[in-house]
Amino acid sequence: TGKFFVGGNWKCNGTKDSITKLVSDLNSATLEPDVDVIVAPPFVYIDQVKNSITPRIEIASQNSWTGKGGAFTGEISVEQLKDIGCKWVILGHSERRHVIGEDDQFIGKKAAYALSEGLGVIACIGELLQEREAGKTFDVCFQQLKAYADAVPSWDNIVIAYEPVWAIGTGKVATPQQAQEVHVACRDWLKKNVSAEVASKTRIIYGGSVNGGNCAELAKQEDIDGFLVGGASLKGPEFATIVNSVI
Ligand code: 13P
Repeated sequence: TGKFFVGGNWKCNGTKDSITKLVSDLNSATLEPDVDVIVAPPFVYIDQVKNSITPRIEIASQNSWTGKGGAFTGEISVEQLKDIGCKWVILGHSERRHVIGEDDQFIGKKAAYALSEGLGVIACIGELLQEREAGKTFDVCFQQLKAYADAVPSWDNIVIAYEPVWAIGTGKVATPQQAQEVHVACRDWLKKNVSAEVASKTRIIYGGSVNGGNCAELAKQEDIDGFLVGGASLKGPEFATIVNSVI
C-alpha cells in the first residue's frame, strides 16, 4: 500500500560529532528512489541535521506541543518545527506513552494540531507484553487507533507505526506473521471505522528491533509498508540496507 516508508528514530541519542558522522554516512549511502526516507534527530540537533543532510531525506521531530507556542516551558511548537524544516512528527511512541505517561487524548490533540499545521504524523500504536499474553493485542491497538480517529479530521497525512512494546529495543523482533496479522487487523479496523479508501491508502509500518538482517522477510509481508527503526537507524549503512529492503 503506497510508497514504502522508512523512518529512523534516533531517540535521545547522539552528540554533534556522532551525528556529523551519521549524516555523512547517510549522504554517501545509495538509497532506493521509490522509498520515503525520514530521520528524527533529538530536537537540539534538528537544525544541524537539516543543514547537512541530503534533501532526499526528510526530517521528523520526536514530539510536538498540542497547540501554538507560548508559556509552555520545555515544549516545542509545531510552528517552530516547521520553521527549522521538519516535515513530520512522531507521536504516541511507546516511550512517551509508557515511560513519560502520555495518554490517548493528549496524543490525539497533538496529532490533530500537527496535521492542521501541515506536518505529517507518524502515529504510533502497540501493545505491552502482558497485553499480548492476555490476548488483548487487537483491543489495545484498536483503542489507540480510535483515539487518533476521534481527534483527526483527515488521514491524508498520517502513517501508522505498529510497534509492539515488547519488541522495542529488546532484540525480540515480531515475526513477519505476527506483524502482518496486526497490520491486517488495523487495516480492517480503518475500513470499518473510517473508510475503505483510508484503509487502502494509509501506510502501516512496523517498528521494534528491525535490523539489516530481519528487514527483508518483514518487508515481504503484504501489509507491511515500511519501518520505524530505532537502534539500527544510528548506523548509516545498516539503515540504508533497511531502506533498500523495499520489494
Ligand atoms: P528499536 O529499533 O531500537 O527496537 O526501536 C524501535 C522504535 O521504537 C522506533 O520508534
